[in-house]
Amino acid sequence: MFARELEVAVEALTQAARLCQAVHRQSAVAIAKNDKSPVTVADFGSQALVCRALAEGFPGDPIVAEEGSQQLRLPEQASVLADVVRHVAAFVPGAAAGDVCGWIDRGGTRDPSPRFWTLDPIDGTKGFLRGEQYAVALGLVIVGQVTLSVLACPNLRSAGGGAIRGALFTAVKGRGAHEQPLCGGSTRPIHVSDNGAPQVARLCESVEGGHSDQHASAELAQKLGLTLPPLRIDSQAKYAVVARGEADIYLRLPTVAGRREWIWDHAGGALLVAQAGGSVTDLDGRPLDFSLGPKLSANRGVVVSNGKLHAALLAALRETG
Ligand code: AMP
Ligand code: MG
Repeated sequence: MFARELEVAVEALTQAARLCQAVHRQSAVAIAKNDKSPVTVADFGSQALVCRALAEGFPGDPIVAEEGSQQLRLPEQASVLADVVRHVAAFVPGAAAGDVCGWIDRGGTRDPSPRFWTLDPIDGTKGFLRGEQYAVALGLVIVGQVTLSVLACPNLRSAGGGAIRGALFTAVKGRGAHEQPLCGGSTRPIHVSDNGAPQVARLCESVEGGHSDQHASAELAQKLGLTLPPLRIDSQAKYAVVARGEADIYLRLPTVAGRREWIWDHAGGALLVAQAGGSVTDLDGRPLDFSLGPKLSANRGVVVSNGKLHAALLAALRETG
């Protein structure tokens, strides 16, 4: 089931991760977007490669992806565009600027549809710039349900591969969650921890205090009796470490009342944790609704756990407000 989707997605994300690594080796610098968040040559290059592969494999499928080529097409960004094209052409010989911008803009769908892909070409751009964790994250949403997902985490240690850096995670609804080294190798099933004791539970959260309220999570941790310090990791690598049992909880608590999360920041990771046996809801215990457009507009924050700790987390959240 979904074998071809999985094959195309794994191949595309492996290439995109390699492109990101190549950009990082050569100097990764941030360009400020209109919303002041950073973007790099690698974000654009990764989106171009993945959207091209999806458009070729599944021409009828819309793609809801984070970036657009509008800023890249400005005359003052000509050298950035040239860099993006050079990196993409290393994988797609002969790719020209027009092709690359066209592929990036395949990700411009914003209307809901019954079947679509959602892509974050680099989730955790700040982590990428720091040489820390980031992920290329892809989910296939069918009738509002994430049905297949792939996460490539180039800087995450591969659990099955000893000291090997770079892990690739896959999940298909009803088929479990798996991990393989990003550089290739055998695939192994992964599972969340079975820890039900808050005293030894490991909570992970964003490195960026602006992305998730770290004071509120510290308060919650104290209330629950957590004793271990939080594990701060960029990107959906947080979902990956919960899915393979290295952490037990991931909290994303809005820093501003009313803020809604982007679907591409959660689709890939949410299915991975669910298929690894864990639970994913919003702060009110509602399932995440991926059917409403580019944002999780019906959900407030995100609570991820190994399942065993979920009820206690939601109860503590209800009490702290
Ligand atoms: P993380 O690496 O977990 O901090 O998440 C990175 C993602 O945070 C980026 O892809 C952004 O889409 C998202 N982001 C940016 N600003 C905010 C914010 N104020 N609250 C929550 N998420 C945000
Ligand atoms: Mg992101």
